Amino acid sequence: MGRKFFVGGNWKCNGTVEEVKKIVATLNDGKVVEQDIVEVVVSPPFVFLPLVQSLLRSDFLVAAQNCWVKKGGAFTGEISAEMLVNLGIPWVILGHSERRSLLSESNEFVGDKVSYALSKGLKVIACVGETLEQRESGLTMDIVAAQTKAIADRISDWTNVVIAYEPVWAIGTGKVATPGQAQEVHFELRKWLKEQVNPDVAESVRIIYGGSVNGANCQELAEQPDVDGFLVGGASLKPEFLDIINSAT
Ligand code: PGA
Repeated sequence: MGRKFFVGGNWKCNGTVEEVKKIVATLNDGKVVEQDIVEVVVSPPFVFLPLVQSLLRSDFLVAAQNCWVKKGGAFTGEISAEMLVNLGIPWVILGHSERRSLLSESNEFVGDKVSYALSKGLKVIACVGETLEQRESGLTMDIVAAQTKAIADRISDWTNVVIAYEPVWAIGTGKVATPGQAQEVHFELRKWLKEQVNPDVAESVRIIYGGSVNGANCQELAEQPDVDGFLVGGASLKPEFLDIINSAT
C-alpha cells in the first residue's frame, strides 16, 4: 500500500479565541478529498487545543506543537506527553526549527523527546532541515541525516512517525524549495533510512515538506514521488489550507 498523503497545519504562536473559531469554521465548511486519501492534522497553540478539538470536524485531528522530554513534574512552563494523552491529543510536532534555533534544542534532545512521546502513545511529526548557510556549504544531507540519526538511535518503531523536511531558509520566508530541491532531499533521506534503519521503514514512512507552502505552489510539490504531504505554517491560518489539503495525490 502506498503512503497516505499527510497535511499538517502549524498555527505556531498565533490566534485569539475568536480567530481560532473562525479558522475552525472555515475548515469545517470546506470540501476536501476523502479521508482515505489524505490525513489532516492541525496544530493550534496549547491553550486552544481543547477548544479546537471540541469544535473541529471529526475527520481532522489535532497536534500539540511541542511537549516535555520526559515525565511531568517540576518543570515550570512545560506540557508533558502524559497531559496530551490525557486530553486525547493524538499528535505532537517535535524538533521544529524555530525551537531548535531559538530555544537551542539539540538533535539529541529532540531525539529524546520523540522517543518519550512515542512511548506514551503519541504520534510524532519530527522536523528536520538545514539552514541556508549549511545548504550553500553543501551540507544539506549531512545535517538532515544527523538530525534523523539522533531520532533513529532512540526509537525502533517508526509506525507513528512522520518526518517533516523543512529547510530553514524556506520557513516563513515566501522562498519555497523548488519541487526538484524538495524531491532530492526527500529521496536522499529515504535512501538514508533504507541503509541506516531498514527498507520497510524507508518505504512506509511519510516524508512531508514544509517551508512557504501555499495554495499556488502545493500541486507541483505534491506530484513529486517522495513528497508525501506538507507541514504548512502561514497558509494554514487561511482558507487556502483547504486547497493544500486537496492537492493530495
Ligand atoms: P511556513 O512555515 O509555511 O509559514 O513557511 C512552515 C513551518 O514552519 O512548519
